[in-house]
Amino acid sequence: MSEKTLFERIIDREISADIIHEDEVCLAFKDIAPQAPFHILVIPKKPIPRLGEASDEDQNTLGHLLLTARSIAHDLGLADKENGFRIVINNGKDGGETVPHLHVHLIGGRSLSWPPG
Ligand code: AMP
Repeated sequence: MSEKTLFERIIDREISADIIHEDEVCLAFKDIAPQAPFHILVIPKKPIPRLGEASDEDQNTLGHLLLTARSIAHDLGLADKENGFRIVINNGKDGGETVPHLHVHLIGGRSLSWPPG
């Protein structure tokens, strides 16, 4: 049995986090090092390491993560065309992934530049 990831430990309440949403499929909490006024992570309870290792069976889970991020963006007042938000999924070393448990970044509350570094 491999060791739990940091995010599995947050799901299991072994590490505290500022949780803003939970349901049977996912958990959403504030990023500990926010890159913008709003920076939320939405993670599946199923321990999928990264998007590149998701399978066709994860279709509902992946859709659920995005729709949950959408709902949170609405709740935070970010979902208008005039303000907006960004969804980021970092995958692997070159993608900037640091925690090997799939997570969707929801970032907003300021104007974000493009392209990313
Ligand atoms: P990534 O670089 O895409 O793997 O993103 C990992 C994210 O997890 C980073 O934005 C970190 O700031 C965030 N993070 C790391 N530890 C914690 C924690 N204990 N609680 C909340 N967010 C965390």
